[in-house]
Amino acid sequence: MATVDLNDVRKVYAGGFEAVKGVSIAIPDKALCVLVGPSGCGKSTLLRMIAGLEAISSGTISIDGKVVNNIGPTDRDIAMVFQNYALYPHMSVYDNMAYGLRNRGTPRPEIDSRVRATAKTLELDQLLDRKPRQLSGGQRQRVAMGRAIVRNPKVFLFDEPLSNLDAKLRGQMRVEIRNLQRNLGVTSVYVTHDQLEAMTLADMLVVMNAGLIEQIGAPMDVYEKPASTFVAAFIGAPPMNLLGLTRAADGAATVAGGAKIHGQIPDEAATLGLRPEDALVSTSEAAQKGALSLPVTVEAVEPVGMESFLHCALAGERIVVRVPGRSMVQPGDRLEIAAGLDRLHFFDRDGKRV
Ligand code: ATP
Repeated sequence: MATVDLNDVRKVYAGGFEAVKGVSIAIPDKALCVLVGPSGCGKSTLLRMIAGLEAISSGTISIDGKVVNNIGPTDRDIAMVFQNYALYPHMSVYDNMAYGLRNRGTPRPEIDSRVRATAKTLELDQLLDRKPRQLSGGQRQRVAMGRAIVRNPKVFLFDEPLSNLDAKLRGQMRVEIRNLQRNLGVTSVYVTHDQLEAMTLADMLVVMNAGLIEQIGAPMDVYEKPASTFVAAFIGAPPMNLLGLTRAADGAATVAGGAKIHGQIPDEAATLGLRPEDALVSTSEAAQKGALSLPVTVEAVEPVGMESFLHCALAGERIVVRVPGRSMVQPGDRLEIAAGLDRLHFFDRDGKRV
C-alpha cells in the first residue's frame, strides 16, 4: 500500500530556470497517475524528483505519508522503467532481472523464484537465457518491466516507456502495462507526451503546461470538461476547434463571418470550443434549430478508414469536422455545420473555462 503526495513542489535548475513552479498532486493507493504535456513542460523533472534523481528546490514529496525529500533513490522503494529500457547488454534476461535483487543481497533461492514467477507473468520464461540484442523491442520493454516488478516496489515510475516502439506494438504494450498495473495494484506515475496513451492508461490524468498543472481529473472528465483552452487543444485528436467570439451590436455572441450563437452563453465567453465529433454536418433547415449554424467551405477531406476528417474554412478560421466512414463530400463543397448548446465549450479571455 502506498500513496504518493506532492505538495507545492518546485524545481529551479542551476542557472535560475524554474522548470516546475509549485505542483501539488495527491495520488491514491494503487492508482495509475499519468503526467502529460508538451515537451519542456516539466513532467520528466517532476518524475525524477519523485525518483530521488533530482533534488527538490522547495515543497515536499511523500510516499506512504513519509516525506522522502532527503531520502536517496535506492531507499525510496520505487522502481523506474525508462524509454531506452536501460538493460545491461552483456547480461542475459535472467541476470538483468535478477540484478537489483542481487545488489540488495536477496538470498539466491528467493531471487530465482521471483525472477521465474515474473518472467512467467510477462511471458518471458522461454527467453531467460537470451541477451537484450536477441530480443524484439516489445520483449526488451517487457524485460525492463520485469526488472521493476521483481523488486516488489511500493511505487512504479514510468518515463515514456513506449516511445521507442512502433505504433502497433505501442498499442499492445499499453494494454499490457494497464493490465499488469491493475493486477499488481502498485501505485504508479507515468510520464508521456502522447495524449492517447495518457487517456487510455490513466486513472488520474494530470495535464501540465510550462511547469504548472492545467488540470487534474479522470480522463473522460478532462475530455468532456477541459479547464482551459490549453487542455481543450491538447487532449483529443484532432483537437477541439477554438473560435474567437465577438459581440454584435445587439449583444449576441458571433463567430467569424458574423454567424450568431443562439441561446444563453456566459458574458465572459471570449472563445468557443467545439470538438470535431460534435460538429454535425447538416441541411440548412436542421442547422437553424441548433445553437450554432456555420456556413463553411470544405478545403480538404482526410479519410482515415473508419472515419473522415473534413477540414473546413469559415471566414479565415479553420474548423475540423469528424464524420463516420468514407465521406462523399469534396473539396470546394459548401456545408452547414451545426451543434447544440450542450456541445459547445466556452472560455474567457484568459483561456479558462466559463
Ligand atoms: P520532454 O517531453 O521533452 O522530455 P519534459 O516535459 O519532460 O519534456 P523536462 O525534461 O522536465 O521537460 O524539462 C523541463 C524544462 O527544464 C525544460 O525547459 C528543460 O530545458 C529544462 N531543464 C531540464 N533539465 C535541466 C537542467 N539540468 N538544467 C537546466 N534546465 C533544465
